[in-house]
Amino acid sequence: MTVIAIDKELCTGCQECTKVCPAYAIEGEPGQPQTINTDRCVMCGQCVQKCKAYLSVWEHGKEAYEAKKRERGLPQSVREPLFAAYNVCHLNELKDALADPEKYTVVQAAPAVRVGIAEDFGMELGTLAPGKLAAALRRLGFDKVYDANFAADLTIMEEGTELVQRVKDGGVLPMFTSCCPAWVTFMERNYPEISDHLSSCKSPQQMGGAVFKSYGAHLDDVDGSRVYSVAVMPCTCKEFECNRVEMRDSGWKDVDVAITTRELAYLLKEKGIDFNSLPEEEFDMPLGDYTGAGAIFGVTGGVMEAAIRTGYELITGEAIPDVKVEAVRGTEGFRTANVKVGDLTLKVGIVTGLKNVIPVIEDMKAGRLDLHFIEVMTCPEGCVSGGGQPKLLMDTLVPEAYGKRRAGLFAHDEALPLRKSHDNPAIKKIYEEFLEKPNGNIAHHLLHTKYCGD
Ligand code: SF4
Ligand code: SF4
Repeated sequence: MTVIAIDKELCTGCQECTKVCPAYAIEGEPGQPQTINTDRCVMCGQCVQKCKAYLSVWEHGKEAYEAKKRERGLPQSVREPLFAAYNVCHLNELKDALADPEKYTVVQAAPAVRVGIAEDFGMELGTLAPGKLAAALRRLGFDKVYDANFAADLTIMEEGTELVQRVKDGGVLPMFTSCCPAWVTFMERNYPEISDHLSSCKSPQQMGGAVFKSYGAHLDDVDGSRVYSVAVMPCTCKEFECNRVEMRDSGWKDVDVAITTRELAYLLKEKGIDFNSLPEEEFDMPLGDYTGAGAIFGVTGGVMEAAIRTGYELITGEAIPDVKVEAVRGTEGFRTANVKVGDLTLKVGIVTGLKNVIPVIEDMKAGRLDLHFIEVMTCPEGCVSGGGQPKLLMDTLVPEAYGKRRAGLFAHDEALPLRKSHDNPAIKKIYEEFLEKPNGNIAHHLLHTKYCGD
């Protein structure tokens, strides 16, 4: 499937995209239209963020602009320049589903969306807006506004338990996180020999989808076949992920369509929903309940920090002295930390920016790496800087925007009453009522997978 494309009619061959592509997937001569080698592309969308060659109504005329919009399936509400590098838009599928009375539509939004979406409505960079986001999704007509942050808490229960088991039982280490589909794809294509190092956990998006169509459908007294599951993501690769053949353990496609933060803004504008004036609303319970640990999944090091908060208590049976795990925060491309967990010194690594994982893997293969657990995120500062986030037209704004989006998620974590995934009452309830226990049979069937490549 095509997720990311470069429009030959618009590309000027400036090769700015080539410089940011972490997979060396963009090919072509300087000054000539570039092409994407789909065997290498991991669909991260960083080229989409960087591209500066565009078609605008002012320069090229209204007719050409509208024709290009139609060609790309973009809604009428789009007013911005159309860039050469773009991600394929899936809003028409979503609009059809929302208009279909037979479908029971549920939606989840990733942590980073709540610090990105407001920017597309003229608000300050990195504005934290979970309440308006929930209200906006409800105004679009979704039957349930659940949340990917709940699924992030669920991921920590599963991934933390998997890590503890691997450490205790002498399993394959280091274990790598598996929540970034661009990273998973990169590993499958380039380093399949280390795939047993990858956590078997699905990403929060896919765990959410599997749960919404099973447990969620049961709670809402709806047949799972009617549930249409939508994900709003900061990430262009998530549409690829939800179409993977492995992602159908609920009995149906676990997530039917994934749209980006930018596309959500297009849709809200098309429907005349004024984001800025929306009231603060809550996500729907119980599958929209979340802790601060779920919220920080959107920043580099956040999955690691959330896992340590829960892993510490799983291993020691005691409360972690400080939920803020400063040692794993930061934005360096590769950083390591030793974290004391009872008698164990947990050795962890965090990679942000996919290119930075290559020397880590090479060191691991050469026996030069002594770590238990490694988080890998493809985008420069984690999902807050994802390819589907609002596009920053001026490069000078990039550091400020990323910094403010990260700060927004950390502030959200600090303000939430619960900050550890295992304290989430909805997480406790789903294990009591349905999943039985982390890494148990039901959880394994629905929430884990064996990645098998394209
Ligand atoms: S989507 Fe990512 S991997 Fe693919 S060409 Fe663009 S920057 Fe490279
Ligand atoms: S870091 Fe986040 S936004 Fe970027 S490719 Fe991975 S999951 Fe997607």
